[in-house]
Amino acid sequence: MNPSAFLALQDIDSALDANAHKRPRLPEGAHHQQLTAELAQLRQQMAQAQARIDAAQAAIEAAEHAAAALTTKRTRLEAQLKTVIAPREAEALMHEIDVINAQRSDLDDQELAALDEQGEGEATLAALQAELPEREAALAQAAEVLQSVHDQLDAEVAELQSQRAAAAGTLTEAEVALYERVRHQFHGVGVARLEGGHCSGCHMELSARELDIVKAVPAGELAECPQCGRIIVR
Ligand SMILES: [Zn+2]
Repeated sequence: MNPSAFLALQDIDSALDANAHKRPRLPEGAHHQQLTAELAQLRQQMAQAQARIDAAQAAIEAAEHAAAALTTKRTRLEAQLKTVIAPREAEALMHEIDVINAQRSDLDDQELAALDEQGEGEATLAALQAELPEREAALAQAAEVLQSVHDQLDAEVAELQSQRAAAAGTLTEAEVALYERVRHQFHGVGVARLEGGHCSGCHMELSARELDIVKAVPAGELAECPQCGRIIVR
């Protein structure tokens, strides 16, 4: 039995746990996530600007279509006006033409407003589009940085796993099973160090009597922390 092999295994597993803990909490990951969200927001704003342009375009076309219909009607009424003789009939036709002219004038106003709206939408879209290449490049760069940090963590895991296989190889199957059991029992850290007078697992200061108990365990046998019950290695 080699207690320090238990400790070696524990140190490797703790390093693997720290690696796994770090991965979803990387500042590079948060930065990448933020840039992704910002780019999505920019694209959404661009879609909104495009929808504004499209709606204005539809309003322009509708106004032009309605104006053309009114023009046709007015041309017909004007032709009719030339043929009528009765003043009352002529007056009625002229009134109808006036109404059409007023409607056309309203349509012209609507079309102008829609043209303004379209121009504003286009200016907004152009400003947003101008931001796009820089934002895309920043995101690509952040993705690259994140990937390289992940690669480093992966390399660290591979190295730790090879160390772990070597460390576990110095223990018997029963000892590895015992190690796994205490690690599970103590939620990751089943083997502690005796550091000065305290246990690195529970951080309790051991009394002189407790220290004597731990030190009385012969080298090559496993001692237990009298405070927490973890395997404690001198
Ligand atoms: Zn302890």
